Amino acid sequence: MHEMGIVQSMMEIIEQQARLYRAKRVVKVSLEFGALTAVMPSAVEFAFTILSQGGIADGAELDIKIIPIKVHCIECGRETVLEEYQPYCPVCSAAAPMIVQGRDEMRIASLEIEDSDE
Ligand SMILES: [Zn+2]
Repeated sequence: MHEMGIVQSMMEIIEQQARLYRAKRVVKVSLEFGALTAVMPSAVEFAFTILSQGGIADGAELDIKIIPIKVHCIECGRETVLEEYQPYCPVCSAAAPMIVQGRDEMRIASLEIEDSDE
């Protein structure tokens, strides 16, 4: 399960950011993953629950968004969002359209924190 390692590195960033803004705790975390990363939201949730335990993001609400695959075709110039990856353009059937979105995104889209009392 590669989600554990991914969430581990994200958790380090979340904790860094939380410290930077002197947060008392992290209330909500929104994550985004490209569809082709094959990241499973349920596995991310599981890893997040385990890895946040006892930390600043313990109990935070988790929002996971999968970014759809979008291809740009050099032949017809169209951009199309695909439900599932296919190695040809759905408009003109030209081979190997460029993947412009949904391939390797793995990011923390936003963090909601609760300020410390001081
Ligand atoms: Zn095309």
